[in-house]
Amino acid sequence: MFENLSDRLGGVFDRLTKQGALTEDDVTAAMREVRVALLEADVSLPVARNFVKAVTSKATGSAVTKSITPGQQVVKIVHDELIKTLQGDDAPDALRIDNPPAPILMVGLQGSGKTTTTAKLALRLKDREKKRVLMASLDTNRPAAMEQLAILGTQIGVDTLPIVPGQTAPQIAQRAKQQASLGGYDVVMLDTAGRLHIDQQLMDEVLAVRDIAQPRETLLVVDGLTGQDAVNVATEFDGKVGISGVVLTRMDGDGRGGAALSMRAITGKPIRFVGLGEKMDALETFDAQRVAGRILG
Ligand code: GDP
Repeated sequence: MFENLSDRLGGVFDRLTKQGALTEDDVTAAMREVRVALLEADVSLPVARNFVKAVTSKATGSAVTKSITPGQQVVKIVHDELIKTLQGDDAPDALRIDNPPAPILMVGLQGSGKTTTTAKLALRLKDREKKRVLMASLDTNRPAAMEQLAILGTQIGVDTLPIVPGQTAPQIAQRAKQQASLGGYDVVMLDTAGRLHIDQQLMDEVLAVRDIAQPRETLLVVDGLTGQDAVNVATEFDGKVGISGVVLTRMDGDGRGGAALSMRAITGKPIRFVGLGEKMDALETFDAQRVAGRILG
């Protein structure tokens, strides 16, 4: 995912660390290259700009340029600033699923990987956190999507709400909550319908479902390959329905990685998980330290 960015930054920092003494001009020139590398990775302009500004101001102090290993000091500053950009000041708290049955609302555009991610997360909660999970598809437009969730549920050993034709999405949400309470489930995951684009009808439906479900977490699933578009989608969803976190899918692909770097800084919402493939276990908790490590090779 970050191969190009990683290569570009690797080149810049190799030169810096080999150089011995550094002047402020050396740092400024290197940061100019970092900025270009970030923009080529599809990081949003204001994020790239702030990043470079923060690193430059920390790296041009005499403590760095006069130190014995100035290049390495700059790399360390970049590393710390990457973590800050990826996650804000602190890693997010655990998902709020302590009060059973805790509703998790899954939202996003069609094709983003929402249904797959719903099942992946359900499996994870079941296996790692020993939660009893009930999944429900609210995609009344696409019976195939409902079937898909049911099939995945069978595959991973997680219950799905029986499909009742003719119900509206809020009615299904209501039934899912009731069933979750009666059945003693810890978590009820609601996989909402997506559309190809954000439109009023989609938002109205998500809002109606949200009001009924009263979710503890509203996770937006976005395609990590779409770079700044993913961030725009997150901004819109957050403004209209309010999200508590983001799942970036297709991070196994050869996208440029900009979505991961811009998401937190632009939306203020944490990336919770990353999807790394089609298989049910291909979901990773988002760990800014690990991602920063990957970016810096
Ligand atoms: P939805 O329309 O948003 O519910 O999307 P789906 O869950 O049906 O996913 C669409 C396609 O993307 C499916 O073929 C999934 O297997 C695939 N997919 C989902 N997440 C990932 C991921 O993290 N990596 C890869 N490579 N494919 C994924």
